[in-house]
Amino acid sequence: MKVIVWRTRAGDGAGRGCLRRWRARLPRNRWVRLWLGCLGLLLFLCLLAILFYDLRPRAAPAAGMAAEGPLTLVIDPGHGGMDGGAVAADGTLESGVNLSIAFRMYDLAGLLGLPAVLTRSAAELNYPAEADTVRAKKVWDQKTRAALIASVKNGVLVSVHQNRFPDPRPSGPQVLYGPAPGSKALGERAQANLAAALDPGSRRVAAPAGEDIYLMKTAACPAILAECGFLSNPGEAERLKTEGYQRCLALLLVGSVLQEAGNGGL
Ligand SMILES: [Zn+2]
Repeated sequence: MKVIVWRTRAGDGAGRGCLRRWRARLPRNRWVRLWLGCLGLLLFLCLLAILFYDLRPRAAPAAGMAAEGPLTLVIDPGHGGMDGGAVAADGTLESGVNLSIAFRMYDLAGLLGLPAVLTRSAAELNYPAEADTVRAKKVWDQKTRAALIASVKNGVLVSVHQNRFPDPRPSGPQVLYGPAPGSKALGERAQANLAAALDPGSRRVAAPAGEDIYLMKTAACPAILAECGFLSNPGEAERLKTEGYQRCLALLLVGSVLQEAGNGGL
């Protein structure tokens, strides 16, 4: 029997030696490394999507699946219209950042073959005449979004938000999840993926959404709310405005949904 032994440096395991040499060739710039990491993740997700969508029709469909249709990603860009959400020190509104990330998620979902819908697709909202107070406008907006979410068969909701805190130091993503089945596992997966890529060493865990978050409370489908970062942290606010960082966030959120679906959690 012929045995092939990879030659390695003394003291190195074969795998570790290769890994070190490979890592040494990577660019030193953190953001270039992050980009390369995201690119690798995208290729992995493409493979996952191809496998998932190619294999699924050949497998015996689960009971009720034909009636429910394919999994559909419902992307909810938080706030909008007269509600700008959190405000960064430079005046950047949360509603605009949320919409930008949501558009990138929508495009990526299309690329990966995952049907997707948006709960809003513009900065402004067309309020009806009867919604003539700030409170009435907000109630109309939330109820309209909830009705759209409820109308989607076999949906999974990802609501996109940005965080704020009086102390400018906190940073990093925080995922909340609704009470519907499947939400907690998706929230934990998304939190782990976001932290691993964007906030290494974070000890935050996915947490149940409070009763006051209407869309999380009312969604009958698996639902998570991703606070992507803190607009109150000046450094993170700058990153959240960049195309590259928004693409990473979109990739990690859509990827988490596909991973969870691939593992049978959705
Ligand atoms: Zn928000």
